[in-house]
Amino acid sequence: LTEKLQNVFKNLRSKGRLTEDDVKAALREVKMALLEADVNFKVVKNFVKSVQERAVGQDVMSGLNPGQMVIKIVNDELVNLMGSETTEIKFQPGSQKTVIMMMGLQGAGKTTTTAKLAGKFKLKGKKPLLVACDVYRPAAIKQLQINGEKQGVEVFSMGDNQKPANIAKAALEHAEKNGNNVIILDTAGRLHIDEEMMEELQEIKNTVEVHQSILVVDAMTGQDAVNVAENFNEKIGIDGVIVTKLDGDTRGGAALSIKAVTGCPILYVGMGEKLSDLEQFYPDRMASRILGMGDVLSLIEKAGEEIDEEQARKMTEKLKKSQFDFEDYLESMKQMRKMGGLGSIMNMLPGLGGMGGLGKGKMPDIDADDAEQKMARVEAIIYSMTIKERQNPDIITPQRKRRIAAGAGVDISEVNKMMKQFEQMRKMMKSFPGMMGGKGKKGKFK
Ligand code: GDP
Ligand code: MG
Repeated sequence: LTEKLQNVFKNLRSKGRLTEDDVKAALREVKMALLEADVNFKVVKNFVKSVQERAVGQDVMSGLNPGQMVIKIVNDELVNLMGSETTEIKFQPGSQKTVIMMMGLQGAGKTTTTAKLAGKFKLKGKKPLLVACDVYRPAAIKQLQINGEKQGVEVFSMGDNQKPANIAKAALEHAEKNGNNVIILDTAGRLHIDEEMMEELQEIKNTVEVHQSILVVDAMTGQDAVNVAENFNEKIGIDGVIVTKLDGDTRGGAALSIKAVTGCPILYVGMGEKLSDLEQFYPDRMASRILGMGDVLSLIEKAGEEIDEEQARKMTEKLKKSQFDFEDYLESMKQMRKMGGLGSIMNMLPGLGGMGGLGKGKMPDIDADDAEQKMARVEAIIYSMTIKERQNPDIITPQRKRRIAAGAGVDISEVNKMMKQFEQMRKMMKSFPGMMGGKGKKGKFK
């Protein structure tokens, strides 16, 4: 009996939409968590506000309570905000040289990271040249030389009585003769944002062509990270960010602050003093670290998987009975978004794969944005149908098609095409009832 009661309770809790009170209560906790992680308070304020607007009224997934649902939305938004995929440093095409300028405050980890990057580039078959442009700290040149030697890459230096811009220029000439194709300029930092430092970086940029200006930030910079990043971005321009010292126990709120304020991608994270301790940046890992709610998140993920399985089972049933309708199609598109890998699945779906003049039978590269757009159009068409039409595609007459097309703002031919492909899929599914759903189709969202 108690089990039954529990089930009832579970269903009660999991039905319905998020109310403003649900959202506000959960967001108070989120706000605290973000501030504790040292995310800049302005960034926190804006973030919480935008999540609140988005979350109120959303459906609560079965298996979750409203509070957990809000955390799920928050986590998804955090991942989005930090860039939904990893980004690489862009090299110049062909045999052209790529010039990378490292910048950041003193002690951020520029010199160490320069050597770390050199190791990564070497593995990619590049021939890096490290350039000692820090002429202020007496030991700076020596430090770069030692690190360069450890990595087996050449270090170019001219002592400490030359201007950094001149050193950079000479280094490029050296690289030309020497066959180096990636040149990393290790510049000098200051303890605080400083005019002289900015002018020096600007002068380097005016003297040689810099392709990537990379900001190096200590993860422990905390609240100040926003100021630092804004300043460098305004005065010099940032192409990418590397956050160091994430091996410590800081939650890394600086990463979020910087990304939110400058929009520049985070490329790598420093995970230790050793020269091999440089890792790719993963937005989802970072989001969960900053939020610091690992337990809740794994619970949410589990609930998501169960739902997907349940949905898949239902859909397989329907497919077997050939009852798959447009409502199910909408649902399957939602599921697919969660599962990612849109491009590849897309191709098999009615109304999506065939659009855009792609050759038959080929597996074209569909880029995610494009796929997303096509999906939105198909969704618009389906939303423009009445519930009855969605459930009984057979009743859709040419006259209804015209109305649907007008409602969705597309040409009637697009409605025809989508419906024809939908019909084909239904037929196909009928002959291969095991194709969709079933065991192998475990959904997973991040
Ligand atoms: P720079 O002044 O910006 O050139 O900074 P350095 O490269 O000289 O680094 C300053 C200090 O931070 C050194 O002691 C480095 O070993 C240390 N460091 C750099 N990156 C990391 C990292 O990812 N983790 C840890 N634990 N220490 C780091
Ligand atoms: Mg240095």
